[in-house]
Amino acid sequence: MDIRTKVVHGCKGYDSNTGAVSFPIYQSATFRHPGLKQTTGYDYSRLQNPTREELENTIAILENGEWGFAFSSGMAAVSTILSLFAPGDHIIVSDDLYGGTYRLFEEVYRKYGMEFSYVDTSDIEAVKASIRSNTAAMFIETPSNPMMKVSDIAALSELAKALRALLIVDNTFLTPYFQRPLDLGADIVVHSGTKYLGGHNDTLAGLIAVKDAGLSDSLKLVQKSEGAVLAPFDCWLMLRGIKTLSVRLEKQQENAFKVARWLCGHRLVDRVYYAGLPEHEGYELSKRQASGFGAMVSFTVREASLVERVLGSVKTIIFAESLGGVESLITYPIVQTHSAIPDNMRERLGVNDRLLRLSVGIEAAEDIINDLEQALG
Ligand SMILES: *Cc1c(COP(=O)(O)O)cnc(C)c1O
Repeated sequence: MDIRTKVVHGCKGYDSNTGAVSFPIYQSATFRHPGLKQTTGYDYSRLQNPTREELENTIAILENGEWGFAFSSGMAAVSTILSLFAPGDHIIVSDDLYGGTYRLFEEVYRKYGMEFSYVDTSDIEAVKASIRSNTAAMFIETPSNPMMKVSDIAALSELAKALRALLIVDNTFLTPYFQRPLDLGADIVVHSGTKYLGGHNDTLAGLIAVKDAGLSDSLKLVQKSEGAVLAPFDCWLMLRGIKTLSVRLEKQQENAFKVARWLCGHRLVDRVYYAGLPEHEGYELSKRQASGFGAMVSFTVREASLVERVLGSVKTIIFAESLGGVESLITYPIVQTHSAIPDNMRERLGVNDRLLRLSVGIEAAEDIINDLEQALG
């Protein structure tokens, strides 16, 4: 079945008890046992809840996995994955990544004796050079955030398998609509559902999908023990958002192309980073491993002094953190999403004081462009 159909119908899709076409919100913390040692399949909502189960099965279906998990935020999902590792384990991490993930690794997990190397994972040789005897996993974002570097998921998966290490892919930017890492050999896919999957800038959520039964058991154990589960109402909002994933992403991508091309021709814009531009380093690889380029566009302006003007003058585009929703947002990574990343690492990556990041929404492309035009002045 085509993914455009899968997103609409989810797993069960409707409530078999009543026929309700909108999957119900089972707002119950606990469930009545039919008798001693008997269960309806639901006992207590931290363990499982019908609305969450529908969302978890839906993300598993969309990612071509077997099992899905839903968490209270993307970071709760990433943290759950990190709980699979032990002191002394080493993880190779994309150096250009979400700042909150870097903070979680460095300021929370490092003190438990885990080791992290931040590497340009779009460079296989650099990844090979960072392998240690205790390398237990690779954690990548592709396209990366905010520089849009593209890593070869299949090649990294082979490398990881040879080491008996896990390949974990944060698929937030492209979603399963454009990219399915499990099909390319990844072991775990993780999402901030807050972004494109939810799609309306109204709900925090985290999602995981896996194919392997052992991994699923381990994740389930952490999920029910730590309890950072997604609430039934928020599961329902995610299910509702996912139904329109295909139309939103097609429109957002179409707009992103127009905005990226327009930015390329603006005299006050220095560089444009969008994997859909043929001159982008990751263009060919993106075409091979994904069916689209997404709608995140980063660019540098010629003078740092322009940044404040742009952020202060945008009207249609909202100056706010986050991405992936129907509203176009503009972010200043150096002070917002990437403030936790040390200066020298940011400099190496190119996350400088002239870099802005756009999450292109579903508005009319002309209005987004006109807004940028007047904001650039
Ligand atoms: C936002 C984001 C996260 C964190 O997700 P939350 O839902 O904010 O906790 C992780 N990875 C990427 C790529 C993100 O954009």
